[in-house]
Amino acid sequence: MRNVIWAIGLLVVGLSSAFWMVSAADPAETVRRSADVALAKDSDYLSGFVPARTTIAHIFEHHMIQGADTPVLVSSIASAMDVRRMRAGQPYSIDRLLDGRVRRFEYEIDNDKRLIVDRASMDAPPRFIATVERIPKQTTVVAVEGDINRETNSLAAAIDKAGERIELALGMADVFSGEIDFNSDLQPGDKFRVLVERHTREGQLSGYGAILAAEFVNDGRNLKAIRFTPDGGSPGYYDENGRSLKRFFLKSPLKFEPRITSRFSSSRKHPILGYARAHNGVDYYAPAGAPIGSVAPGVVTFAGWTSGGGRTVKVRHPNGYETEYLHMSAITVRAGARVGQGDLVGRVGKTGLATGVHLHYGLKKNGRYVNPVIEHRNMPPGEPVPAGIMHVFNTDRDRYLTLLFNPTTARAANNE
Ligand SMILES: [Zn+2]
Repeated sequence: MRNVIWAIGLLVVGLSSAFWMVSAADPAETVRRSADVALAKDSDYLSGFVPARTTIAHIFEHHMIQGADTPVLVSSIASAMDVRRMRAGQPYSIDRLLDGRVRRFEYEIDNDKRLIVDRASMDAPPRFIATVERIPKQTTVVAVEGDINRETNSLAAAIDKAGERIELALGMADVFSGEIDFNSDLQPGDKFRVLVERHTREGQLSGYGAILAAEFVNDGRNLKAIRFTPDGGSPGYYDENGRSLKRFFLKSPLKFEPRITSRFSSSRKHPILGYARAHNGVDYYAPAGAPIGSVAPGVVTFAGWTSGGGRTVKVRHPNGYETEYLHMSAITVRAGARVGQGDLVGRVGKTGLATGVHLHYGLKKNGRYVNPVIEHRNMPPGEPVPAGIMHVFNTDRDRYLTLLFNPTTARAANNE
């Protein structure tokens, strides 16, 4: 029955955007119609979504809950969860007796947990028992495939077409971030498959677990990624031969989607200054505010304003490399700070000499500007799977690849 209440709540949000979204469903009604048995109605099922800027007491007041119940309910809820963390937009339901007392109150804390408050006794004074329980969810391993073409010209669009959510595209972009620059490398004809843990709740997709394996055919290159956790280490992605996909440099400082709008060159007509000038980096189109990550671990050597670059961050990396991020709307690091690979250094903007919102990314090797796109491609791969546990990796690899290329076996594995 609880499922029905939540489902109704979700239906209501789909149909209306009213401030208070409340629906009353009468389960007794349903029973009567289907079984032709008369059941006396003793309560109303009310469900809705927590409005912005409200209190729990106000929600109970809105639903005309008996005054004596409210303070006891509120303190009972507070005993089980931090009421300040109640979030607007989350669903709740109330089983309200005809005299205005509450038999049960439920509130969905997040995707994984819900609060249930039950009346402990029908006798006065009111008493409630509050518990937090895990929301049952089902995890299945699925193989998803897609391709890049004229219509679906980004990973996000291809994932969307496959009926999956953007989180899966972001997850894949992360897995292949050392191999594919999703800003510039995708080509029509590219295709991919991904084996992922998919969570559902009451039949609806609720999120993803780990990506177990993936294949990306990019511009004729066939890249595979296998998830593996070395003893005592953290999970990482490796190619078929156990070489880490995590390179010394990320392919780009941006997640993906945006594209290169201006390439590296030794001479180019400057769009504002008008005369030929070298372009010491690449320009990526990206929306204002998009996060910019350091392409490699290092130390921030400069974080501040430069006349042409506007808000600028420079990071020094091992092996004689330095990276520069220009025209940012915000800087999120200080000079001297240590950053890890992918750590936020700032956000995309158009400060300094910039005709529009973009990120100018520059790379220096031993003090000289080099073409980042070419340099990134030639970076050495990360640590391989240790030889002593290669046989464990091989077993995982073979199992995942079988599931990846034979979706029917993926289904069978779920039924084990
Ligand atoms: Zn530029």
